[in-house]
Amino acid sequence: MTKLMNRRKVLKTAGAGAAAAALPIGIARAANPKVVVVGGGPGGATAAHYIAKDSKGAIDVMLVEPAKAYTTCFFSNWYIGGFRNFESITHSYNRLADLGIKIVHQMATGIDPDAKSVTLSDGVKLPYDRLILAPGIDFKFDEIDGYGPDSVEAMPHAYKAGPQTVLLHDQLHAMKDGGLFVMVAPPNPYRCPPGPYERVSMVAHYLKNNKPKSKILVLDPKSKFSKMGLFQEAWARYYDGMVEWLPGEMLSGGVKSVHTGSMTVQTPDEEFKGDVVNVIPPQMAGRIARETGLADTSGWCPIVPATMESKLAPGIHLVGDSTIAGDMPKSGFSANSQAKACAMAVRHELIASRAFPPRFANTCWSLVAPSDAVKVGASYEATDEKIAKVDGFISKTGETGSLRAENAEEAVGWYSGITTDMFG
Ligand SMILES: Cc1cc2nc3c(=O)[nH]c(=O)nc-3n(C[C@H](O)[C@H](O)[C@H](O)COP(=O)(O)OP(=O)(O)OC[C@H]3O[C@@H](n4cnc5c(N)ncnc54)[C@H](O)[C@@H]3O)c2cc1C
Repeated sequence: MTKLMNRRKVLKTAGAGAAAAALPIGIARAANPKVVVVGGGPGGATAAHYIAKDSKGAIDVMLVEPAKAYTTCFFSNWYIGGFRNFESITHSYNRLADLGIKIVHQMATGIDPDAKSVTLSDGVKLPYDRLILAPGIDFKFDEIDGYGPDSVEAMPHAYKAGPQTVLLHDQLHAMKDGGLFVMVAPPNPYRCPPGPYERVSMVAHYLKNNKPKSKILVLDPKSKFSKMGLFQEAWARYYDGMVEWLPGEMLSGGVKSVHTGSMTVQTPDEEFKGDVVNVIPPQMAGRIARETGLADTSGWCPIVPATMESKLAPGIHLVGDSTIAGDMPKSGFSANSQAKACAMAVRHELIASRAFPPRFANTCWSLVAPSDAVKVGASYEATDEKIAKVDGFISKTGETGSLRAENAEEAVGWYSGITTDMFG
């Protein structure tokens, strides 16, 4: 039996506090169990935060994230629309460090599940007792001909927030009045189902006030999308004639290739030329999860719903966008909620703290115009099969202005609360 298993047995029988208190004077205490968290976005930051906070020093937590600060995708559309500045959507890791979490600003380049270690870009190996991966998404750069990593400067995706978001914002601001903003929307499943359409609304708001002769064209492989009726109502009401949305069936399936030199996108039958082209490519789980064998043939990672432990590699947990999370959409709110369930399961496993059946929640607000936001949300529970929706709600078309203004205020409050919950 390994030292770790011995310690777990003692802790599970007696409880962490009792086990520690029972040590005779002069006998060294066993080292704390170690949790390594890879990825400092909503999923990883929340998991690290909650394990450190709730274990009160009984677990050593290390967070591996290359960036010094995290810019949220949520509210990045608000920045594009002029409702937020960039600083307000960027968060440091300082408060997590103050909680005792060791932040390592590197990429994790490999995982050895047998040796229980994570290799960093400088070659150092970090041992762990439990590993939590929250690497988010990667783009499938081989699915649209001509759109690869080299194309993202000319045709930004702005679907991982940061310099890409600023680039799209700046291209929009540099666009001539009377220009065409083309969005290539992604196929399911992808992060933030309403995200592209909130972006359309925010771009339309900017254009209406600054370049009113301009148009927006959305080329979508799907035939419907999240909160579709609500977005279309808003586009007709606030931006009449400015937004044209073409579904997959009108595009012979959608965009198959792009040419950055001529700023054109091609479907099997047509070619469109944009002044600004925002390509949001098809998506899959982040590379480290796929390369460790944690993703199935869908490109996403199956998990045990109650603990967020990988179904393919015991001892490794996954949270956030990289997972197959049943009925939950890929959102920052979902990632935060899953990370808390995961943190509880990991603490239970390592220091025998109490665990309860997890409840999950999500709400996605979308700003469609000043003081007008729509929302969709649900609560979920873990069944043996999946994270299953229990009940839900969605805004309705024709709602009063005051209700929509309340939604917008609620969204601002949510942003402030959840980013504190993530980053401390
Ligand atoms: C335009 C837009 C609008 C959105 N609006 C909303 C909204 O209103 N509400 C909402 O809830 N959600 C929203 N989302 C979705 C939300 O941003 C994502 O669901 C959320 O970021 C997922 O969190 P995550 O932790 O899984 O992944 P990420 O946020 O992608 O974080 C992953 C982190 O892991 C790091 N990483 C990756 N690989 C490694 C590695 N090998 N080693 C170390 N670190 C690594 C990355 O640097 C990154 O910081 C929106 C998304 C977009 C694009």
